[in-house]
Amino acid sequence: MSRRGEILAEMGLAPIWRLKHGPTSEGAPPERPANDWVELKQAVSGCIQCGLHKTRTQTVFGVGDQNADWMLIGEAPGAEEDRLGDPFVGQAGRLLDNMLAAVDLHRTKNVYIANVLKCRPPGNRNPEPGEVAKCSPHLLRQIELVQPKLIVAMGRFATQTLLATDASIASLRGRVHRYAGRPLIVTYHPAYLLRNLPDKAKAWADLVFARKTMASL
Ligand code: URA
Repeated sequence: MSRRGEILAEMGLAPIWRLKHGPTSEGAPPERPANDWVELKQAVSGCIQCGLHKTRTQTVFGVGDQNADWMLIGEAPGAEEDRLGDPFVGQAGRLLDNMLAAVDLHRTKNVYIANVLKCRPPGNRNPEPGEVAKCSPHLLRQIELVQPKLIVAMGRFATQTLLATDASIASLRGRVHRYAGRPLIVTYHPAYLLRNLPDKAKAWADLVFARKTMASL
């Protein structure tokens, strides 16, 4: 029993009943990893582990086929995602959907899409290291539940989180990396591509490389 639990027991205030995956206090770690999708969704929607819960409209869990072979991972919800509750529904999302269509994929079919952060950083600022540390266990659990055959990390934050590296995207592209034994391919984030149009061709090459890798598994 924790010290706090001991003290409360001493005062005759135990046992303490808490929601298993509902909100605890801000910053408090979850009691244990979520067993299944229902528990994980509950844990995410009630999460108050970092300050982003104060400014979100809603959490953005993930979208797609929960048994997908492909898992695509982005950074964090933007304004549209925060409003609608699904990842990649703004301008970057439209580009992502078009790129997926070009390799015969669709966000609802054999693809699962999630972000490192489940809440929007205000003003679309970059995620802070503390936010990534608190939120990424949700993503890691999603990966365990989907069990994708291949992961595509889109942009710096997904890549850094899953590969524990601060190497550039440019230096990591074009190779098969591993996350928890699963093949992982690194590419640019769609929002970056909207600002850097010439790199679209590289992202297209990355997707073709990912498709080839998938076909070889
Ligand atoms: N950018 C992301 O990384 N994720 C989204 O859901 C939207 C934009």
